Amino acid sequence: VSHYLHQIESKAHLNAFVEVYQQEALQKAATVDEKIREGTAGKLAGLIVGLKDVLSHTGHGVQAGSKILHAYKAPFTATAVQRLLDEDAIVIGRQNCDEFAMGSSNENSSFGPVLNAQDITKVPGGSSGGSAVAVQAGLCHASLGSDTGGSVRQPAAFCGVVGTKPSYGRVSRWGLIAYASSFDCIGPITKSVEDAALILEVMAGADEFDSTVSSRNVPAYSGLLGSERKVRIGYIAESIENESIAPEIRQRTKEVLERLMEEGHVVEAVQMHTLAHLLPTYYILTTAEASSNLSRFDGVRYGHRSNEAVDLESLYKKSRTEGFGDEVRRRILLGTFVLSANYYDAYYTKAQRVRSLVRAETEKFFENYDFFISPVTPTTAFTIGEKTEDPLQMYLADIFTVHANVVGCPAISIPNGTDRDGMPIGIQIMAPYFGESDMLSFARQLQ
Ligand code: GLN
Repeated sequence: VSHYLHQIESKAHLNAFVEVYQQEALQKAATVDEKIREGTAGKLAGLIVGLKDVLSHTGHGVQAGSKILHAYKAPFTATAVQRLLDEDAIVIGRQNCDEFAMGSSNENSSFGPVLNAQDITKVPGGSSGGSAVAVQAGLCHASLGSDTGGSVRQPAAFCGVVGTKPSYGRVSRWGLIAYASSFDCIGPITKSVEDAALILEVMAGADEFDSTVSSRNVPAYSGLLGSERKVRIGYIAESIENESIAPEIRQRTKEVLERLMEEGHVVEAVQMHTLAHLLPTYYILTTAEASSNLSRFDGVRYGHRSNEAVDLESLYKKSRTEGFGDEVRRRILLGTFVLSANYYDAYYTKAQRVRSLVRAETEKFFENYDFFISPVTPTTAFTIGEKTEDPLQMYLADIFTVHANVVGCPAISIPNGTDRDGMPIGIQIMAPYFGESDMLSFARQLQ
């Protein structure tokens, strides 16, 4: 703990942590030391973790990177966090992120941008940017992030670390501040696949506080990493051919596919027609869900309340106007629009139907293949400020990651070399619903 506290202090300019629990972490470390001596320590004893600022932890601030939750303290602990604590993990602090997990660059945080430790002029990715940089820069062993459309995998790719999004319903969302409830997943950001497997097996499984969590048995993922079986892999030809994807990323992805082929795996280019509709489907449904989820921030129950209000309506309006940043407002407006009476069928209902089609086509794909492989991002980490004026460009870059959330499948991003400037490149493995064991095992083989 002392080592990491020192690292956090010496790399404070990266802006990865918004709060550090110095005394508490040191005290917990002493308790865990005692347990280790007694032989009663849990299986995560000694693991130092950071929490994305969307995870509730009793008595600690949590504000989703937003002014609207200024000074709010969590009255309970997220199930995923509690399970880590129960196994003697030590929480060292909470980490910067895009406001309400909306973004791909961590530039939408009320705490200011996070800097990529590889090159501080570049973004770390988002929305779990602080969580990825904390692992990249050695400020903690592992972080918990949330992934609604790539927010664990994409920053992991930009920072050269491992980002794991479990199946929807594998890990309880209880205590996670909601962005889009039918997409949100809590996932670990780690240096290795082994650590991801260990953390996932501790966090996953049924929870009486979240009825969408599956009661399926949780395999001991970390003990199942050894297999070296031959697998069937599908990929989309465009992902290694399309010129809008950075040449070095295409090249690196191609090299992995070729290597796998040489090793005797089946590797085939496939066509999936519904993928062309992924981004509009994702952005229509998530903004709809966000507009509904964020209606609870009304200036009455949580955090920021405007001092300028003169009546109930101005209290709502002014508190929300002062509390929410531009991107969150943009998404609330979009979501409110697609849910409005005149447009509901044209946008929301249609997007739900497309979601079913994507799911069906993906399920069909997995009847013939074990894994779907793609790049994680079309470019490596870009320069801070480069895309802030053009939200559409930012949304388009989520093309590879949103698929897993639209269909609910697990997916993992692992490092796949760097570009000529030394910026990390990631590769993504997506597996069938609840196929975490095989996915982690294969990722371990690739890493
Ligand atoms: N970049 C995506 C978005 O802005 C994903 C965010 C996330 O997964 N929370 O919505």
